[in-house]
Order: sequence, then C-alpha cells, then structure tokens
Amino acid sequence: MASALNSEIQYLSGVGPKRAALLRAELGVETFGDLLRIYPFRYIDRSRIYRIAETTGDLAYVQIQGTVVSRTLIGPGGSTQMASGGPIELRAAKRLSVIVEDGSGQMEMVFFKGIRWNYERLKPGSTFVFFGKPSEFNGRLNIVHPEVDAPMPGGADAKGTLTGVYPSTEKLKNGGITGKVMCKLQSTALAMCLPEIKETLPDYVLKENALVPLAYALRNIHFPADHYALEKSVRRLKFEELFFLQLSLLKQKYIQSRGSIGLPITKVGASFNACFNALPYELTGAQKRVIREIREDMRSGHQMNRLLQGDVGSGKTMVAVLSALLAIDNGYQACIMAPTEVLAQQHFANISKYLAPTGVRCALLTGSSTQKERRELHAGLEDGSIGIIVGTHALIEDNVQFHALGLAVIDEQHRFGVDQRSKLWSKGPNHVPPHVLIMTATPIPRTLAMTLYGDLDVSVIDELPPGRKPVKTAMISDAKKGSVYNFMRKQIALGRQVFVVYPLIFESEKMDLNNLEMGYEEILKRFPDPDYKVAIVHGQQTAEVKNFNMSAFAAGRAQILVSTTVIEVGVDVPNASVMVIESAQRFGLSQLHQLRGRVGRGADESYCVLVHDFKTSAEAKKRLELMCSTNDGFEIAEEDMKMRGPGDLEGTQQSGLPIKLSIASLAKDGLMLNEARAYADKVLAADPKLELPVNAKLAEELRKGKYDIKDYSKIS
Ligand code: ADP
Ligand code: MG
Repeated sequence: MASALNSEIQYLSGVGPKRAALLRAELGVETFGDLLRIYPFRYIDRSRIYRIAETTGDLAYVQIQGTVVSRTLIGPGGSTQMASGGPIELRAAKRLSVIVEDGSGQMEMVFFKGIRWNYERLKPGSTFVFFGKPSEFNGRLNIVHPEVDAPMPGGADAKGTLTGVYPSTEKLKNGGITGKVMCKLQSTALAMCLPEIKETLPDYVLKENALVPLAYALRNIHFPADHYALEKSVRRLKFEELFFLQLSLLKQKYIQSRGSIGLPITKVGASFNACFNALPYELTGAQKRVIREIREDMRSGHQMNRLLQGDVGSGKTMVAVLSALLAIDNGYQACIMAPTEVLAQQHFANISKYLAPTGVRCALLTGSSTQKERRELHAGLEDGSIGIIVGTHALIEDNVQFHALGLAVIDEQHRFGVDQRSKLWSKGPNHVPPHVLIMTATPIPRTLAMTLYGDLDVSVIDELPPGRKPVKTAMISDAKKGSVYNFMRKQIALGRQVFVVYPLIFESEKMDLNNLEMGYEEILKRFPDPDYKVAIVHGQQTAEVKNFNMSAFAAGRAQILVSTTVIEVGVDVPNASVMVIESAQRFGLSQLHQLRGRVGRGADESYCVLVHDFKTSAEAKKRLELMCSTNDGFEIAEEDMKMRGPGDLEGTQQSGLPIKLSIASLAKDGLMLNEARAYADKVLAADPKLELPVNAKLAEELRKGKYDIKDYSKIS
C-alpha cells in the first residue's frame, strides 16, 4: 500500500508542483510527513478574548474584539490634512489609525501597510477581532499591524480554538502559502497520515515519562483541542526530539568507551609527586576534582575522551601537566598542543618550570623549528627520552613518531579539526589510541555542551584560584576616548601595563591591518617615546617580529601592547591590568570574555574598557552591558545563547550547528534536555546496544539517522 507519510508533497491536495518547489526550498519539506513536522511557533488564542481595560504593554500577544469608533488617515510628517485643506486622501496616506472600543476601553490599531484595504473594511460601527502584540506609545496602548478577523459567532465570550501560526517567509506568502493555506494543508495532510502514524517510543518510555502518544501529539500540536492538550503535545514532541538526540550521542559513547581499549595508566609515581610537592600553591578544589576524574578515566581500561572546560585563568595548564606526569609515571609520553606558536611557546616556558623538580625532559616543536631541531626532536620522541612535547598542530602534521604516546592534551579545542583528532589517535603505541584531554576556555552552556560533545565526558573547573578579583568593566563611547587615554596614563604611572585590542573588521586582511595601524599611530601620538614604549603584534608579522614584540611586553619593556585578537588565547602577563577593546560592539560575547581574561591575572585591581562607536545597535549595547554586569563565563555563554540562539555561538556557525531541531530549543529547554539525557542514559545502561525487544522501536528510529551528528569538524 502506498504510504501517505512518504508521498511527495506536490501530490497533497492544494499543493501542486509550484508550491511544492516553494515548500521544499523554504522549509525543506519533501513529503507529507515532513510537512507534519513543521510545527506552529505560536497560537492565536481564540479561546480567550482580552478586555481592552485588562490589556497592558507587557503582554505578549492578545486578542481583543472591538467595534470601530473612528479611522484616521495620516500623511507625511504626521499631518492629518492635505495642503489644500481637506482630509488626507487615501493615496497620500502614510499611516492609518483606527480607534476601536469594546465597552471596557479604547485602543488604537495602526497600519503602515495595506492602508487602502484596511481603511475600506474597517468601517465605523463594524466589529472585528484584532490580534497582535500591544505596546505603549505616548501613554496609549496600540497594536501595530494587528491580524484582523471576523468576530466570533458567539460574541466575546464564545469558546473558540487555538489556531497555529506557522513559520513563513515572504516567498511562501507570495506563492500563495499564507497562514490560512498552511493550516488547510496541515489539516489535509494530517487526515491522510494519522492512520499511518506509528508510535516511535516504546510503551514503557511513554508511561515512565508521562508522555502522550505520537498521533495524539501531532494532531494537537497542529489543532489543539485546548491548552492542556497543547501543553501535553509540546512536551511529548520536545522530549522525543531531545531523547533521541541524547540516545544517539550516548550510544556512541557507550560503544566507544566500552569497546575501545585504553592504555593502562594506573599508578601515581615519582614525577607526579615531585611536581605536586613543589607546587608554589595549593590546587583549588575544582582542580583536584578534575584530576581525580582524569585519573579514574585513564586507569579504567578504556580510552579517555574528556573535555575540560574552565574559564580563563582557572588553572587548566596545571591539570594538563599533572595528567601528563601520570602518563609518564606509567611508562608513556604526553603531548600538549596549542593553537598558536605564541601560546605553544608560553606553555612550554610554564610547563618547563613546573617540570624542573621532576627531571622529565620537555621539548617544543612549532612551525618555525629548524630542520636540525626537528631531527633531534624526532629522535628523542622515538627513543622515548623526551617525555612531554609541547607544540602547535605541526606536531601531528609532522611525521612525528612516538615511542609510546599515552596522553594527548589539546588546548583550545574549537580550533582543532576532526581529522586532526583522528591523526592523533593513530599515534598511540601498538594501535591503541592515546587518552585524549581537550581543554577549552570558551565556556559552552551546559545544554549545548551536552549536545555538541555528547560523545565526550565533560569536566568543569568552576572555581578560580584564590585572590582573583573580578575585572571591573565599563563601556564608553569612542567620542570619550580622551578619558580612556587619561586612565591608561594613570595605570601606567602605577607601573601597570595595558592591552589595546582591535577587531578584525574587514574581510580583507590588508584593511584590518590599516585599521590597526591607524590605531597604533594614534596611541604613539598620545603615548610618545621616550616616556612610553608601545609594542604591536598582529597576524601578518613574521614569528620573529611577533616574538620580539610579545616578549618586550611580557618582560615589561613596553607598557602598551596594541594588537589584533592574536592575544586572545592564553597569553599570560600578570602585570597587565587594563584591557581596552576597540569597536567592542563587533566582538561576540565569548570573545570579549576571552579577551577580558587576559587581565586580572595578578593581584592588582584590573579593568576592561569596552569602547564602542555611534553605530552600535541597541542589541550590541545589551551585550556590552551584560559584560559590565558579570565576570562569570558560563553566565555570559548562557545569555549569549539566549540572545543569539545556539546556532550562532562561536565555533558553531549558523549553518554549522550539526543538528536540526524542529521543536526543542537548546537555549530554552535545558531542564527537559537534562531529563531526556538522564533517561536515555538509564535506557542504555540496561541495554547499551538497544538489542532488547522492548527497545526495538528505539533502535529503528536511530537507524533512520535523523539524530546523527554528521560533521564534527564544524564543532571542533
Ligand atoms: P588557564 O589556562 O585555565 O586560563 P592557567 O593554567 O594559565 O589558566 O593559570 C592561570 C594562572 O593561575 C597561572 O599563572 C597559574 O600559575 C595560576 N594558578 C593555577 N592554579 C593555581 C592555584 N591553584 N592557585 C593559585 N594560582 C594558580
Ligand atoms: Mg590556558
């Protein structure tokens, strides 16, 4: 029997080839079944009519039923009269204002478009239902461009229905697929498909989670019987989506960790203890916890795949070093990879210090290592005399062979591609992959991490070393830059140093460089030699020049460092107390947070100044205000996700979010995501491969591949 669900959309009554092409292009709908999975994003609540008197500007959407009192045409500049003296003529009108009343009060309806059509139908004395978002204007409530419908037959107290409003586009509307048409199509598709809808969740899953059946949910998400039915249906569909997503991710993880052999790193030995005992500070509780988690992983007999999230300055390097020493104490080597040369060098310098008491040999390999250095390194890695190698990606691109690579640490994971990860895997001894620890300072909201990194275990360092003071942050318009320069002078007089960062604004690197250099000239003018020394660092410099400038700043020979975002990650200059960010409105929140993390590393009070220009949008200002109000990276990441939606987060381009959710939102449904993940975990704990007959439906649904994350390179 032919299946309605899989029928091509053009054969749905009311569609045809032209509209089918539109539905395909605009909404990705190929079949009747696909159409049913396009859900309304809100509902016109015909079940409730508001009185004008109880309506306020804070309500979302309301529906009122009112009678037209008057209608006024308004011309350019707000005039209500033609130059000739008479009232504004229809063709000259820029705006139509309609006053309606419902016995409890009056409200204005405003139209900028469709003036003629609305003027003609909204005759004084006639009654309509108006639907829209009320707002307050000059102390009066109005609705701009309300949806206007005929009054309900039973009057204002009649019990109506909830009518779905579907996502739409200009093209869809122009192609005749209006809201009403969409409702009709859904109704037709639903009637044909309902008998075929098969439940996707086993009975016990429905029962244990108090979920309504799929057929019920689909019917009521499109045509809710009432609020209660709608709520139940939304919950069922969201849960299903999040549950399958997590089930798919966790299943991979179960298979990976149960199936893969891991190198046995079981004992804590001499080098770990030597380093640990010589630490100049006590580890924070969070550092200790994370090291314990890593130890447990590495001695479990399975390969570790762990993501370590920790805000800038939370002390991830130490965790990496101690983990590496665990590997070394068990006869293995470790590599630590950084995204840039500057960072690799800095890691190398820091790590060498920590390793001094251990006698472990540490080496550095970057793109600028000479042939001779490389030969020595290769030899040392192959015979095992080098215990820890620090480097850039050159490390794996290079045909480096390890004696016995036991642990790979990747710093700043979001710049690290998946094929690079897999190259790494092949570097382990006897084809056993090394343990992998990925560190990131880009806080990712928990809900997003659970989805994007569902196949990894996640550790979080949620505690900063003691004595850190939050960075005082202010935003200032670039018209007032003079005061910023004064502030910089004061700080420099106190012996502090200052970062000035420029964004990459233009597509062309040349233009960006111009922009940076103009800023640099300006700073040089304001902070002249010999009283001040200014260093500049950017991506176009040779490694040598970059290093020269960086180290001039790091060693305190320059008081100001002007740079692009190359300093974004990891650079540690404890004496720097001021971070000035130019055109701050152009940066994403996570990036601003990263940059701000460059200061506040010493004991002194430190500051971040966000300079924005007159073109800053209200939304961008809101982001900057958030930066001023909190130093908590996770809070910032959560807010960022709420403001922009998860698809826009750094490292995950809009199109790059590797999964498409049709109803659940990672930003808004965090609680349900937790619930779904915990439940998926429970199901898999009992049946890791989903082989039991009760789970047949689950296995079948996963086989369809809808919930696979296909391209990890987009996120890593
Ligand atoms: P991250 O890489 O997480 O941004 P780092 O590892 O660079 O942070 O550490 C930042 C600074 O904090 C370093 O100067 C480091 O020596 C110091 N540090 C790390 N752990 C502690 C601790 N437990 N107590 C005090 N200082 C610490
Ligand atoms: Mg770091």
